[in-house]
Amino acid sequence: MKPIAAALLLFTAMTAQANPVAIVIHGGAGRIDRDALTPERERLYHATLEQSLRAGHTILKRGGSALDAVEAAIVIMEDAPVFNAGKGAVFTAEGKNELDASIMDGRALQAGAVGGVTTVKNPIRAARAVMEKSPHVLFTNRGAEKFASDNGLEMVDPKYFFTERRWKQILKWRKQQEAKAKPQATAEPDRHADYFGTVGCVALDTAGNIAAGTSTGGMTGKRFGRIGDSPIIGAGTYADNRTAGISCTGHGEYFIRHAVAHDISARMAYKQESLAKAAADVVQTVLKQAGGSGGIIGLDAKGNIVMEFNTPAMTRGAIDQDGNLKTALFK
Ligand code: ASP
Repeated sequence: MKPIAAALLLFTAMTAQANPVAIVIHGGAGRIDRDALTPERERLYHATLEQSLRAGHTILKRGGSALDAVEAAIVIMEDAPVFNAGKGAVFTAEGKNELDASIMDGRALQAGAVGGVTTVKNPIRAARAVMEKSPHVLFTNRGAEKFASDNGLEMVDPKYFFTERRWKQILKWRKQQEAKAKPQATAEPDRHADYFGTVGCVALDTAGNIAAGTSTGGMTGKRFGRIGDSPIIGAGTYADNRTAGISCTGHGEYFIRHAVAHDISARMAYKQESLAKAAADVVQTVLKQAGGSGGIIGLDAKGNIVMEFNTPAMTRGAIDQDGNLKTALFK
């Protein structure tokens, strides 16, 4: 090896060492009924969050890309029935599962997303395929499914997404709707609060690249064809190496109208706000005043992490740049 090449290699290795890696995930914001939360379920939340974090972090520590880390972490949560994404997706009013996902690469603002898919086992992989193998950003329904299967992704029968727990939730939701239709009905409780569980991840790799991804079954009782914020770049997901990566969870319509993920990034870019301040302002002031419940996770280029929510709970976790792992459910 020529001395100059060797020096370059050494320099790259040294800078790679110096750059922090970090990862943050969420498993949805809402209300968890503490009384109904069995110790097993609580343990399951923590264990799955930890497994997801470790999968992503191992990739980052090896010098792998933030994109790979985000995909790996989200696939674990999609495959776990405990979260409202992939296997544990909630039901539409008609009793089907329609899944949304997106991913964004903060290096060159590349993004991919799928909406309303019913046969793609891991929608986050489909979102990534859209980003990397098509000139487009968002595919929906049949087009998204055809694209996923053409690109060799694992396809499943829609029945794969059936889980007893989510089925009970849609039955309960239907009862609530009937009660609401009665003349003496009282105001509907916040629909988002009970049926949360969207998943998301933001990662920072040794090269200083940030990636963010989000995957969901949407909201229980959504009308068929409804697409939430999760596959909308700028609403549910955003990543820009110059500011931060953001993944959102909550009542999607509010996140779309307020372009939440991009708003946080824009405040950092234009007002030079810190990630913490931008996230707190958007979630606790803008969203809350509008009546939008939910939360966000974010990670900036320096490795600063935020987990901000205006709901009683948000399942979440992170491994910071010092390697400290933390998972939590409540405030
Ligand atoms: N944001 C998702 C949606 O509106 C739901 C959630 O995060 O719980 O589809």
